[in-house]
Amino acid sequence: MQSFFVKSKNMESFDYYRIDLRSLPVGKSEFRYELDDSFFVSKEGTEITGGHLDVEVSVRSGETFDVEVGIHGTITIPCNRCLDDVEVPIDVEDRFFVRMGEAELDEGDDLLIVDEKEGVLDLEWHLYELIALQIPIVHEHEEGQCNPEMMSQLERHGAGCRTEKTEPDERWNALKKLAEKQGSL
Ligand SMILES: [Zn+2]
Repeated sequence: MQSFFVKSKNMESFDYYRIDLRSLPVGKSEFRYELDDSFFVSKEGTEITGGHLDVEVSVRSGETFDVEVGIHGTITIPCNRCLDDVEVPIDVEDRFFVRMGEAELDEGDDLLIVDEKEGVLDLEWHLYELIALQIPIVHEHEEGQCNPEMMSQLERHGAGCRTEKTEPDERWNALKKLAEKQGSL
């Protein structure tokens, strides 16, 4: 048995990412979300300035709820070099389990305990964390694609930390190579 829920943005934002576990039918329920810039604007202290992501969440109900999450799309984040927004693709799948119980119970890496008095799984922060963990250490425009005005200003003020003349930092190069290697997989 499978049920579909398409969460509407017209719903109170408070409820938008909250799944009432008790109201779920037997079997598997699916939820779809579209995250846009507004999702990130409300998060304090994030580097992410916006994004367009499709999120699919499936919840199989039972004594333990089996939750699978897929997030696909792009986020925008300031480029390491020129600080203009650069798009970073995000593709992440995650699976975890949820039980209702005493809120003080220990949670494992893959097990989340929700207060049995409420019975509500709040996905908002979980989705945000999954996305934030995907941000590569080096996120910058392709060579030559940076904002030229900003680059020349940085150079003029001596703030450009990586001009041709400066000695490259060994550690930085190692990170960059790693990121390039991962990107080519
Ligand atoms: Zn750039």
